[in-house]
Amino acid sequence: MAVPKRRTSKARQGKRRSHLHLKVRQNTYCIRCGEAVRPHIICSNCGWHNTQGREAVVLEEAEES
Ligand SMILES: [Zn+2]
Repeated sequence: MAVPKRRTSKARQGKRRSHLHLKVRQNTYCIRCGEAVRPHIICSNCGWHNTQGREAVVLEEAEES
């Protein structure tokens, strides 16, 4: 079985783990209502899709009964 010849120094370990951090989430804003939305994802407030430029989810406000 392969065994490491030398132990990993703290500096080398830190360099390897320097890429593990989280990135800041990118926000865009909905054209129609101005709500902060994640890119390529439907607006949770009004159902608008920014990149397609159309309403992707039609919210039911007035129900016919
Ligand atoms: Zn919206």
